[in-house]
Amino acid sequence: MQHLQPQRILIIGAGFASLWSALAAARRLDLEASPDRPVEVALIAPQPVLTIRPRLYEAVPAGMAVPLQELFTATGVRFIAGSVHAIRTDADEVDLVDASGQHSTLHYDRLVLAAGSSLYRPDIPGLREHAFSVDQGDEAAALEAHLHRLAARPSSVARNTVVVAGGGFTGLEIATELPARMRSILGDDADVRVIIVERADAIGPDLGPGPRPEIDRALAGLGIECRLGSAVASIDATGLTTADGERIDSATVIWTAGVRASVLTAQIPAERDALGRLRVDANLRVPAVPKVFVAGDAAVAPTDDAGNHTLMACQHAIPLGRSAGDNAAADLLALALTPYSQPDYVTCLDLGGWGAVVTQGWDRKVWLTGAEAKSMKSMINSKLIYPPLDREAAFAAANPAVALAL
Ligand SMILES: Cc1cc2nc3c(=O)[nH]c(=O)nc-3n(C[C@H](O)[C@H](O)[C@H](O)COP(=O)(O)OP(=O)(O)OC[C@H]3O[C@@H](n4cnc5c(N)ncnc54)[C@H](O)[C@@H]3O)c2cc1C
Repeated sequence: MQHLQPQRILIIGAGFASLWSALAAARRLDLEASPDRPVEVALIAPQPVLTIRPRLYEAVPAGMAVPLQELFTATGVRFIAGSVHAIRTDADEVDLVDASGQHSTLHYDRLVLAAGSSLYRPDIPGLREHAFSVDQGDEAAALEAHLHRLAARPSSVARNTVVVAGGGFTGLEIATELPARMRSILGDDADVRVIIVERADAIGPDLGPGPRPEIDRALAGLGIECRLGSAVASIDATGLTTADGERIDSATVIWTAGVRASVLTAQIPAERDALGRLRVDANLRVPAVPKVFVAGDAAVAPTDDAGNHTLMACQHAIPLGRSAGDNAAADLLALALTPYSQPDYVTCLDLGGWGAVVTQGWDRKVWLTGAEAKSMKSMINSKLIYPPLDREAAFAAANPAVALAL
């Protein structure tokens, strides 16, 4: 009997978009592939682990890193440990290196690039050496360890003060979490100060005016100070200085301002936006490089016919992943592709001890506040964004036609 070499759908990353791409591709192949044209779904990432990035502003429990190997085995996805450092679209190959430094090359028949994003650190003196962050699992763990070490220091203004640089979505979530978290570490009588330094003249500049009154109430209620219209000029071991010359003594500066798509996006010869995201068509394919699909924070795609586009958010990364994986498999099987569409948009912002605020629509009209909003945030953070762990449930949820249930 002739032994057929399988074709390969190669997926880069083990984040939300890549995991759901792999599951959706495996589901589609399970439904439609024929044994005489075998196709392999292979996923490359440093580890078979999903980091629950949207929860990294919380104190770091073990549940924020979800092991995926069992799910990969159950769904027939081949996991390859490694980090991709080159994509050669002229040869349909990627070069990777594993943890022991071993280099290898893999061929693909279809590629899904879903290597996510990371915090952008501009060239501000002292930022790279002294600022903490909550962007990746190890960075959030380093912040948590540092906060616990503060308890051993004598009380001082710098010890008790945390500065959050950036008053956007992530800055607000970590800032509103910190008063209670700092007191739980330093003691209820510690004179804790949390200060947000935001370059724009309004808090949550990208969130628009809708949720702002609720955000202002939360910040006031939690005693969080804001320096609006104020840019960080330098950071050192004992605090920061703003561009207008204010000195803030603080042992803990947390940088949250700005995210950029994976540097791998630069290796695809195609148009990228200001955040480094590759522009894809409605089928999530790079128009100039038809064997390459992109999903999650590495992609920018239209969400609807009204001119809205995907954001760097799980809310988009999961459905983008499902569509990209499904379409990559359909394309390889010469079936019709299904355009990605996600007109509904919701924002759910945690406001720590104050509660949360949920908005609906792209104009972000407030829908829920207080305990109701908090309970939705907790459902999202503890259930909605976690993958099912058995094959049947995973394939059912990987169907791109099924909406994410809020
Ligand atoms: C603190 C915080 C709060 C957030 N809150 C929310 C929220 O409330 N709601 C919301 O919708 N979104 C939120 N987000 C954003 C959300 O986490 C991201 O949009 C989402 O993680 C993007 O998914 P992704 O799969 O594109 O990328 P990622 O989750 O970043 O995953 C990328 C994957 O690619 C792998 N990878 C990277 N480079 C390589 C390489 N060279 N080779 C192989 N593998 C590689 C990584 O190891 C990782 O497995 C938040 C993010 C943060 C940091």
